Amino acid sequence: MLHVLNHPLGDHLLTQLRDQTTEPATFRTLSYRIGLLLALEATRDLPAQDHIVSTPMESHTGRLLAKPLAVIPILRAGLGMVQPFTDLFPDVSVGYIGLERDHTTAIARSYYQKLPPLAGKRVLVVDPMLATGGSAVLALDVLHAAGATEISLICIVAAPEGVKAVEAAHPNIPIFTAALDRELNTKKYILPGLGDFGDRLYGT
Ligand code: URA
Repeated sequence: MLHVLNHPLGDHLLTQLRDQTTEPATFRTLSYRIGLLLALEATRDLPAQDHIVSTPMESHTGRLLAKPLAVIPILRAGLGMVQPFTDLFPDVSVGYIGLERDHTTAIARSYYQKLPPLAGKRVLVVDPMLATGGSAVLALDVLHAAGATEISLICIVAAPEGVKAVEAAHPNIPIFTAALDRELNTKKYILPGLGDFGDRLYGT
């Protein structure tokens, strides 16, 4: 269920994103542009239905999207991936899950939830760094409990450990990422990674 974005533009953007000299303003723009590529990839299989339009020339049976979407950023880093979805899919519902990981134990804890109705929607969870998988697994638990039945997880960088944890807890969830990195370090940061995504996004 792992889909690694395999696109030269994705690699180009990600290389600049990883660069430690990239300042927050550029970091936000790069995250947005990678988010666009991932949003397209993660919605490639969306259902569509026939729709007849009259072009200036003749009648034509086209296709219109047939499933509502919800994008759920995991606060706070996930906020950096919302705009690509709202720009491409203006009718998308946006919900929020606030999770933070203890900097010593790296264990995730939920401190905020604000979710739209999820039944019948394609739910797209955005969290740029899939590290241990603790936050992603917790967010998926929360969303299942809230009635979501069709969920995808979208990140920018994934560690093998995080992919394994999500696959073990939620075997049917597709994971979309721009890169599958090597490993976690002892502090549970991704290598080579890009450091703390939230800090780099917001200059904290
Ligand atoms: N979260 C981050 O922001 N970076 C990592 O490397 C791991 C988790």
